[in-house]
Amino acid sequence: MIKTLCLRVLLLSFAVTAVSCDHDKNASQVRAQSPASIPPAQTPKLTLPPDSGPPPSIDGARAMQYVNEIVAFGPRPVGSANHKKVENYILAHLKNDTVEQDAFTADTPEGKFPVHNIIAKFPGTKDGIVVIASHYDTNYPLRNTSFVGANDGGSSSALLLEFANQLRGKPREGYSIWLVWDDAEEAIKPDTEVPFLDDSLYGINHLAEKWERDGTLKKMKAFLLADMVGDADLNIERDTNSTAWLEDVVYEAATRLGYQSHFFARTQGVSDDHLPFVKRGVPCADFIDFNYGYNDVFWHTTQDTVDKLSPKSLEIVGGTMLETIRILDKMDPLPPK
Ligand SMILES: [Zn+2]
Repeated sequence: MIKTLCLRVLLLSFAVTAVSCDHDKNASQVRAQSPASIPPAQTPKLTLPPDSGPPPSIDGARAMQYVNEIVAFGPRPVGSANHKKVENYILAHLKNDTVEQDAFTADTPEGKFPVHNIIAKFPGTKDGIVVIASHYDTNYPLRNTSFVGANDGGSSSALLLEFANQLRGKPREGYSIWLVWDDAEEAIKPDTEVPFLDDSLYGINHLAEKWERDGTLKKMKAFLLADMVGDADLNIERDTNSTAWLEDVVYEAATRLGYQSHFFARTQGVSDDHLPFVKRGVPCADFIDFNYGYNDVFWHTTQDTVDKLSPKSLEIVGGTMLETIRILDKMDPLPPK
C-alpha cells in the first residue's frame, strides 16, 4: 500500500490536523485523533438487522501457515520468477473453484510488465456481489533486498485463501462473494521520483475499468479491501476515503464479535487499492492497520517479516470482514451509494 511521509508525522500527534502532502492530494486530508475518543457516526443512523446465528469462523493458524508459505518464495515484485510462483501457488489453492483470470501488460515508468489479477467466485442466493480484495505483489524498488512483505501483501493474500476455504462447497444465503488477488499494486518507481497514484494500483485499476465496461460494477454492493492485516499489535484505521456508512457497518460487525478495541482508534485518509472503486461510486471499506511497529517503522522495510504477525489478528480481521458481509446480506435495501 502507499502513503505519504507527512502521514507518519501526523500519527504522532493527537491533535485534529489537516495538512497537504505533495505526493497525494487525494489523501491529503489526514486526521489523527485520541484513541480515547470514539469515532462519531458520520451518517444517519443505520437500520441494522438483529445479531443472530453463529459468528463466522476463520482458522487463524491455517491463514498464518499460508503467510509463511507465501513469504518462503522470497521477494515477489512484478515480472519476477518468484511472482510467477506465487501466482501458481494461489491458483493451486483454487483449483476446484470458479476462477477468472485478468492478465494484461502494464506500461510503467520502468517499462512493460505482465500483470495478473486472480478472481475466485463463490455464488450466493441474493442478487449482487461483494468483492474482497488483496494485492499479492511486493514493492518493486525493494526488489533487490530481502523485503518479503509478510504483512504488506502477504497477510491479506493468505487471509483471502482462508476465506476461500470457508466459502467453498457451502451454499451462501446472501450476496455472491468474489475474492480478488490484485497485482502490481505497489509503485514501480520510488515515490520521490513519480507520484504514487500515477505509478501504482495497475491491476485493480484495470479490473475496475473492465468491470465498468462489462456491467459488473452495477452489481457490486460493496468492495472490502484487506491490506496489512496481520500485525500482532492490531489497530485497524477508520479510513476517510472509504464509505462512511460502510465503515459504520464494519464497526458494528467488530462490536458483535467483541473485537471493537482493534478498530477505529485512529481516523485517517488512506490511498489504497479501493480508490478505483471509490471513484466509481461503489461502497468501499479498507481494512488496514497503518501503524506497523512504532511510527510504522517496519512498513516497506526488510523488517516486514512473519515474526511481527499473529494468527489472532488474521482471525479478528477475517471474522469482522465476513460478519460485515453477513450484516450487508440482511440490510435491505442498502443505503444509497
Ligand atoms: Zn506496500
